[in-house]
Amino acid sequence: MTAARSLTTVAELAAAGLLPEAKRADAAAVAERYAVAVTPALAALIDTDDPRDPIARQFIPDAAELVTLSEERADPIGDLAHSPVEGIVHRYPDRVLLKAVHVCPVYCRFCFRREMVGPEGLGTLSAKALDVAIAYIAERPEIWEVILTGGDPLVLSPRRLQAIMERLAAIDHVKIVRFHTRVPVVDPDRIDAALIEALKASGKTTYVALHANHPREFTVEARAAIARIVDVGIVMVSQTVLLKGVNDDAGVLAALMRAFVENRVKPYYLHHPDLAPGTALFRLSLAEGRALVESLRGRVSGLCQPAYILDIPGGHGKVRADSLAVEEADDGCFRLRDFRGQAHAYPPEDG
Ligand code: SF4
Repeated sequence: MTAARSLTTVAELAAAGLLPEAKRADAAAVAERYAVAVTPALAALIDTDDPRDPIARQFIPDAAELVTLSEERADPIGDLAHSPVEGIVHRYPDRVLLKAVHVCPVYCRFCFRREMVGPEGLGTLSAKALDVAIAYIAERPEIWEVILTGGDPLVLSPRRLQAIMERLAAIDHVKIVRFHTRVPVVDPDRIDAALIEALKASGKTTYVALHANHPREFTVEARAAIARIVDVGIVMVSQTVLLKGVNDDAGVLAALMRAFVENRVKPYYLHHPDLAPGTALFRLSLAEGRALVESLRGRVSGLCQPAYILDIPGGHGKVRADSLAVEEADDGCFRLRDFRGQAHAYPPEDG
């Protein structure tokens, strides 16, 4: 049974035995700068005897987060450059992000939106801002898909989710609604009948993209939560961030992708880590990432192969990091071609 409250302060993490004495001062400095939250379900999953525990590494503040490199950016994937109205990111013609909330049940230490999420972040869209965001979608017939992200949209109450879905259901040209969430693994008890019902909209197809990064996240409770969603006919796909010290190992990645497939979640995105501030501890090079992804081919079924994706810094969209659109140069840097055919250097030259 999951306890009610998440751990959100260094004192609470320490009291739960998740932060050794020697690391508390640095963790407090990190917590001043970036949000902290660990759900009871995840706290129970951390092996406190393992100093390199891959679950702890994702959620327990680390002194290395205090170091921001010159190439790191507050808005690494350029959301703000493509935000015509509050709460909307319109980067590609046929789809928009709808960021209704900037709160998450957990705060990942590598978060690409870490400057926007958390109690000090951009908050929840006001009723007026939501009206404007919905009107933006309704006025543009080219918008086929709405992606609810944030923050984690599944922290919203079923009543609020249902209200958003009813408004999207009334827009004929929107056919697909996709939720990006970590809730089924980090707070599985939250996935109850009322919440699942709220994810459905009349005449629309709902997809849920589940963010998980290590096979141990698939606890009995998490598997049951996923099954409750899939059993009502909602399609699930995966997203994973490739993270040094968490899943940068062919065996771990293979086990993770198999766990998704076994639970009826089709592997979709494997993200190269973004240039978010204070996240260098998680970043492997593009060459290392490509070698890892290559090692998955042949090792696991085609069902288990995700698309390895890099979000081009500056808001230029996604590129398949293992495709011909990414070329390695002689100096060890890469040249990327975005979906409009424009070339970019990676890492960016203007870092
Ligand atoms: S759940 Fe997503 S948005 Fe929230 S902290 Fe983690 S990576 Fe960031």
